[in-house]
Amino acid sequence: MIDVRPEEISAILRRQLSGFEKEADIYEVGTVLQVGDGVARVYGLTKVMASELVAFPNDVFGMVLNLEEDNVGIMLFGDERLVKEGDTVRRTGKIASVPVGKELLGRVVNPLGIPIDAKGDVHTTKSLPIERKAPGVIFRQPVKEPLQTGLKVIDALIPIGRGQRELIIGDRQTGKTAIALDTIINQKYTHSEDAKKKGIQPVYCIYVAVGQKGSTVANVVSYLEQFGAMEYTTVVAANASDPAPLQYIAPFCGCSIGEYFRDNGMHSLVVYDDLSKQAAAYRQVSLLLRRPPGREAYPGDIFYLHSRLLERAAKYSDEMKGGSLTALPVIETQAGDVAAYIPTNVISITDGQIYLEPNLFNSGIRPALNVGISVSRVGGNAQIKAMKKVAGPLKLDLAQYRELEAFAKFGSDLDKATQQQLRRGARLTEILKQKQFVPMPVEKQVALIWTATNGYLDDLPIDVLNEFEKELFPEIENNFPELFEDISLKRELTEEISDTLKKALDSFIVKFKKNKNLE
Ligand code: ATP
Ligand code: MG
Repeated sequence: MIDVRPEEISAILRRQLSGFEKEADIYEVGTVLQVGDGVARVYGLTKVMASELVAFPNDVFGMVLNLEEDNVGIMLFGDERLVKEGDTVRRTGKIASVPVGKELLGRVVNPLGIPIDAKGDVHTTKSLPIERKAPGVIFRQPVKEPLQTGLKVIDALIPIGRGQRELIIGDRQTGKTAIALDTIINQKYTHSEDAKKKGIQPVYCIYVAVGQKGSTVANVVSYLEQFGAMEYTTVVAANASDPAPLQYIAPFCGCSIGEYFRDNGMHSLVVYDDLSKQAAAYRQVSLLLRRPPGREAYPGDIFYLHSRLLERAAKYSDEMKGGSLTALPVIETQAGDVAAYIPTNVISITDGQIYLEPNLFNSGIRPALNVGISVSRVGGNAQIKAMKKVAGPLKLDLAQYRELEAFAKFGSDLDKATQQQLRRGARLTEILKQKQFVPMPVEKQVALIWTATNGYLDDLPIDVLNEFEKELFPEIENNFPELFEDISLKRELTEEISDTLKKALDSFIVKFKKNKNLE
């Protein structure tokens, strides 16, 4: 990936804003009072709007952030050394905006829409302001279509629906990005012919990287390319080395790119990785603009920053063409402290959270999801019926397992029923583990969970379950070629399907035990 120099940013903004000098009614100039640390204070721009772009000499542009009584605070996108006290500043009358459209798919851009992947210009004429009003309730409808992540533990227990906002929260290195990437990779299916036949509409993805290392983002892009996911994905990157203003606007920019799809009756998914770093960038700019610091030194409107961003995720009503924007914000916690300021804020804005724990991660339970405290408040309505049916007993078994697990460590003579519950729970936990980059289609998830909750695994040793899973699917495909297709078409666990599953498993389990000498 290449870096964008401040001159290039200026050149692109100049092109986007061409002709603003001629528009007489906004011809208003101000004077720079003070400049430094990437912000400037300007006197005399009495009619300027919040988030309006203003032009300094030497092609430096800035965005208005603070409207005060006798001056305005502006964050600079260009090189501040080119701006001096006493310079004139012009209004442009334009709000910061970003190019949108399908032309951005497959591209890596910075928060102003400037490509940084060395693949040439983005040829689109459409653009949207980065700050837009969230749709009102009248224009929305409840979440109803599933957004399959391909991760068993999430699709079964914490299902996500199109238009939902689901927070991914956890300490550093607990697999937060991995969940987001797998979800993006799993959307490949929605772009296939088969999905089209079944009436599943494609989901376009946007991955917004905020404050990460350039090399980490390059890795993400190469994974997405490797799994053929870049075809329907845009990456918006504001790296740790980029100026704080760019890191602050990056999520808004990604959101607008996603809104283009939502507003045109299509479906999109946007990942904000992560909002903790965006909040820190915003705090930096705010403190430099001398806004009063509040809790943890964040400015008073930090809640509003995240709420106005996440409220833009929506499922439109059918009159509004039924498009959707699903948001997966990521928050990094410090030593599991979910009660810190930013985590509690974002938890209260989202429709649920996927809570990842380092001790689970380190003990090999990956995805390291804490099933007890993770929730999805609306996604259950979007789950396909078959999944809902098998997930019921799964939830119950796991909850009982959690209750007994701690207590079973002390006593040795447990009654039969308790031993059985422990055995079941351990096996369920095992089959919910999943490697990175191997998303599983929902019909296979249903079959596997059905197998486990119906006790087929109870007398197998835990270390063969991985092989069991690997051998089960080809076996079913060979002997009952219609089964998976049936589940995905009907979306229900009809009696007929249950019967077929039973037949398939009864014969497979005998064969498997024999092959592994488990009799
Ligand atoms: P950071 O805080 O640095 O952003 P993160 O929480 O986003 O970290 P990841 O980068 O997604 O975590 O994952 C951390 C490491 O764990 C990576 O090396 C990743 O490959 C590995 N990992 C994540 N999920 C799994 C999984 N399900 N199975 C095996 N390895 C995994
Ligand atoms: Mg990460």
